Amino acid sequence: MNEKKEGKVWIAGAGPGDAGLLTLKTAALIEQADVIVYDALISAEILSLIPARTKTINVGKRSSRHLMPQREINRILAELAGEGLQVLRLKGGDPFVFGRGGEEAELLAEEGIPFEVVPGITSGVAVPAYAGIPVTHRDYTSSFHVITGHTRKGGESRIDYEALARLDATLIFLMGVTALPEICEKLREAGMADDTPAAVVQNGTLACQRRIVSDLLHLPEQVREAKIQAPAVIVVGKVCRLADAFSWSEKRPLGGRQILVTRPEPQGAAMAETLRGLGAQVLELPSIRIRPLPKEENRAKVLEAWKKIQEKDGEGTVWIVFTSAAGVRAFFELLEQEQIDIRTFWKARFAVIGSGTGMELRRRGIRPDLMPEVYEAAELGKALAEQTGEKDLVAAFRAREASEELFPPILQTGADCMDLPVYETEIGGEVPCLEQLAAQVREGKVDYVTFTSASTVRGFISQMKDRIDPGQILAVCIGRKTQEEAKRYGMRTVVSEKATVESMIERILKLQKQ
Ligand code: SAH
Repeated sequence: MNEKKEGKVWIAGAGPGDAGLLTLKTAALIEQADVIVYDALISAEILSLIPARTKTINVGKRSSRHLMPQREINRILAELAGEGLQVLRLKGGDPFVFGRGGEEAELLAEEGIPFEVVPGITSGVAVPAYAGIPVTHRDYTSSFHVITGHTRKGGESRIDYEALARLDATLIFLMGVTALPEICEKLREAGMADDTPAAVVQNGTLACQRRIVSDLLHLPEQVREAKIQAPAVIVVGKVCRLADAFSWSEKRPLGGRQILVTRPEPQGAAMAETLRGLGAQVLELPSIRIRPLPKEENRAKVLEAWKKIQEKDGEGTVWIVFTSAAGVRAFFELLEQEQIDIRTFWKARFAVIGSGTGMELRRRGIRPDLMPEVYEAAELGKALAEQTGEKDLVAAFRAREASEELFPPILQTGADCMDLPVYETEIGGEVPCLEQLAAQVREGKVDYVTFTSASTVRGFISQMKDRIDPGQILAVCIGRKTQEEAKRYGMRTVVSEKATVESMIERILKLQKQ
């Protein structure tokens, strides 16, 4: 009998928005879950980390604009788990801090559905921290309190303001923007001084974070003037005085910037990590996918080439050429599949198009013998032509649709050339939560989009289609060809000095100073 996998639900916190504040456990669950049921508060940055194969359900709900009643959400969770799925219930902040995680756990417990709870970093503490406000400080306060500012429609607030005012503590209100005037007034009526420091932080930990620091008397008006909206955290207490001196998040080199990285998949998210390290919020969109060619298709042709390479390897020089890191990876996967030892080619020479490809090769213990100064196929072809002659063989392991500019100069020397496709590039393709990423672009919340090849431009455009106006985009391009492609679609462009990821990051940093 085919035993059905037991379904399970993880009620997990995703933190306040910055993907770096995901716990290791929640990050791993995002990778592994069959289906992710998420709220409106989950940031686009976090949504962009969901693998393409994963099903997603948006149950986003906002107070007084209910998208889906809690009852319905509970039912969905129970049903999905009943189907034997691994369900990740992803909630903003911590699931048990005004997150209604308790209600969801209640139902799952009742129905006997297995579940785990994964605590998250609550916005109540993290949002003030990103705005330079420590929720406690020995000199100012000995406790902090997290309070809901949300009152049921038409209902009376259940908050005991008298008690709060007596505490001389840090008071943190969630869901309180609408009720802000009332909160400040009631606290003053209860005896708190007009000049008690108070602050509001909107979209905390995100690139679009905004902060108003004032006092109880003036805060409501300033917040109204600044058009601060939910989600926002209100902080009342002396610790707010530290906000200016401690403000740090905007001061990071890329603080306040959101960057969309069209990284190919699968590939180390090295660029995204570096940008995050510099303070940027990073949306990761795999706009092209690299796939090894089907085995049958690959094998015969490549094995034949193999034989030829070995025959030549003694007569003339054999050049093994890579024009991408993906090509290097596919080549070594082939060696592994066919149980071929790299020492078979002990006399072969290796040429790479640029430093990224070179790095991929060096990681495997091979130092490239040739790399052109300008990282382009035509330049690599010219450089190889200077070193080859009639007896030689040039075998390029690369994408199915690769540049035609590589071989012509080499062919002129009389060398034998072999174009060996080992992978293909799928342009565009389905991605979960694409609409949320597009919305970030439309709302002008994406400062730059990075493109590391012309194909990433095409992939991005095919995914975004009519969702965005490319004229809104400032494209940071890796080279001339990529830039031409971005311009073709009407994007504004800048190009990195060198064709490396490091150089692209330098270009972005330079944009900050302009
Ligand atoms: N469980 C969540 C809170 C859910 S209630 C947690 O632990 O953080 C929703 C409220 O959280 C919002 O109304 C707002 O007050 C606060 N909030 C969540 N994320 C926020 C953010 N990035 N910036 C400011 N406030 C946030």
